[in-house]
Amino acid sequence: MRINKDSFAILNKSETPSVFRVNISEEVVKIEEKVEGNLYGDVLVFSDSMEDAFDIGVQYRDVIDYLLFFDKESQKVVVLGEPEKPVLSIEEIFGRIQKIFKDFEERKEQVKLSKEIENCLEEGKFGIFEAPTGTGKSLAYLIPSILYAKKHSLKVVVSTNTINLQRQLMEKDLPVLKNIIDFNAKVALGRSNYLCKRKVDSIFEKGNLFLFEDGSYEKLKSFVNSTKTGVKAEFFTSDTTIDETLWESVASTSLTCAHTKCPYYKNRCFYYKARALLESADLIVANHHIVLSDALVKEAGVLPDYDAVIFDEAHNLEKNATNYFTQTVSTAEISKLLDRLYIKKKRKEAGLLSDIAEDKNKTECVSYIKEVRRAIEDVLEFFGGFKQDEITVNADNLYKIKPHINALSDTVSNLSLKLKHWKDSVDISAIAQSLSDYSDALNLFFENEVSDIKWIKKTKTYVHFNITPLSISEALRENIYERAESVIFTSATISVNGNFDFFKKTVGVDTANEFIAENNFDYDSTSKLVITSDTPFPDSPEYANALSKCIVSIAKGIKNIDAGALILFTSYRMLNKTYELSCERLESLGFVVLRQGDFDNFETLKEFKKNRSFLFATSSFWEGIDVKGDALSIVFITRLPFEVPNTPVESSRYEVMKRQGVNAFIEYSLPKAVLKFRQGFGRLIRDKNDRGVILVTDSRIIRKTYGKVFVDSLPKLKKEVIKTNEIKDSICSFFGSC
Ligand code: SF4
Repeated sequence: MRINKDSFAILNKSETPSVFRVNISEEVVKIEEKVEGNLYGDVLVFSDSMEDAFDIGVQYRDVIDYLLFFDKESQKVVVLGEPEKPVLSIEEIFGRIQKIFKDFEERKEQVKLSKEIENCLEEGKFGIFEAPTGTGKSLAYLIPSILYAKKHSLKVVVSTNTINLQRQLMEKDLPVLKNIIDFNAKVALGRSNYLCKRKVDSIFEKGNLFLFEDGSYEKLKSFVNSTKTGVKAEFFTSDTTIDETLWESVASTSLTCAHTKCPYYKNRCFYYKARALLESADLIVANHHIVLSDALVKEAGVLPDYDAVIFDEAHNLEKNATNYFTQTVSTAEISKLLDRLYIKKKRKEAGLLSDIAEDKNKTECVSYIKEVRRAIEDVLEFFGGFKQDEITVNADNLYKIKPHINALSDTVSNLSLKLKHWKDSVDISAIAQSLSDYSDALNLFFENEVSDIKWIKKTKTYVHFNITPLSISEALRENIYERAESVIFTSATISVNGNFDFFKKTVGVDTANEFIAENNFDYDSTSKLVITSDTPFPDSPEYANALSKCIVSIAKGIKNIDAGALILFTSYRMLNKTYELSCERLESLGFVVLRQGDFDNFETLKEFKKNRSFLFATSSFWEGIDVKGDALSIVFITRLPFEVPNTPVESSRYEVMKRQGVNAFIEYSLPKAVLKFRQGFGRLIRDKNDRGVILVTDSRIIRKTYGKVFVDSLPKLKKEVIKTNEIKDSICSFFGSC
């Protein structure tokens, strides 16, 4: 007995899972018609023999969610049960995906990668895996993660760097697998995404004159009454004009949670309900932000205990971890806490202290608050005198800075101690604790801790005091690696020169299983690397003019075909200069000219995809865009993407390496630049039907010894070294366009 092809076609066509009446004739199961009612999952209703129904149910349990038997005599439907989905191997799962989704293409490297990840998970090991674009990396790690979690009743966390990827996993990849395996996957949101009902009650009871002046009070009230999830995104979808500070004042935080003393604790609290759902999940889809910040707050975090974590887009981990393991004291944050305590406008008081009857303690406290505000003003004025916006604190300037930090720390500490008088108030105690932590962190500026970088960032409105670990590897070891049995890192670009040495050093991993998947695309026949040998060096004053000429040559090369170009810069200054020099010429040749920053990135990309365009871009566009087809036929890398170590963190790391006798350029700057270069290159071919040219005019790639590392890091493809005035012909010959 078999279910024939047509039957599946009908099943897959149904937009919502529905009930189908099934008939069996001549050994073939025929799905005859859709009947009333919607259930979750495809349901087959058998109407001939109950035994046959069972047979089919068992045989096709991976596509049938419910098995019903229609008893003709009694005219009743009997539920035979929900057939359990069998435990399948990785190969079998990929095989079934292919059967169900006709567009799915089997890729050997995808299965190999998946099995490598399965081995790591089963053996409790670390793994570093590179999977070029087109490998199908998401399914390759989701499948073994689910199988492992189900088999051992453990939890696996998948961490992405971008919301886009998180969305893709939840909306595209996991629903595919739902057709084949039973599992429970949930998305983790950071704690402050949930509304704290206790805080809302408190605000509603007491009111807050300044917070709700603009009618936000009513919006919040109606949201609280209607929402089932209490999630921030839901609140802001209904009205994007609401001030973010409103949410901050009602968001759940570990510090302000009253726990067992709260009437909503556990079952009626949005945050605890969401956390309980995560407890029941096999797979948790999170992002680097949540995994890293959660590691710092440990049991107060949103993630339950997990056995393994998979970092996708792992090339960003060092940058993310550097941010999250940086301890920051912000004058803006302190001011917000002061406002929440006490604020007086037009002779009206607001804030937590405003409800307290006048007495000596309150008067003293209000006076301490004024002192902190004065200390903040002094700090703003003092640091306003510095020319640079980011200042590294060192022995040379500490003596000047110290009195101002001291004054701030002392006043903050005094206020914190005074607030302890109201220890019964959860909200006041939470503010006291935060202030005390801030004061302690400010005092760390005077400790001679060589493993930390102390630096200050200032604007006109705030000053941030930051302490960043010199290396994040220790912090990752302590906070992440000790928490999970297996840690898997994966990305399209984490190897340099065919190895993971640089990555391992930056994230503090000594031993790991390693695997680099082969390219799924045939770069050799679909793309070409063109390098110009006569362009001036990028630091030359002539460079912008030279770039503009190259850009116009590209435009002439593609003016007769449907093609667009992405021009990647390493600085906004050069981007703007070149844009100004080229814009008119490009428009006169019939192209739409786009510049990153003129609209938001999403709009810019939308325009780029639908027109024959030139997009001038920098920073996030080196890695954040996925444009398939002719719209992106040329990637122009205007400069090798070396980072200038001019931030306090980068320059301090550089300095320390030099002191240790390490060649910081070779060991740190070069591999970082190569990775970014590979990411830029990766924008070109996004699909097996794509083709295009990558143009590099930074002649250091052929004139300097290290240039070879860039070229060797690319997949096998045709290479051409030409003069600038040959760009048009080279492009024409590739596309056959002139
Ligand atoms: S349990 Fe904590 S987070 Fe939840 S409503 Fe109560 S105080 Fe707010």
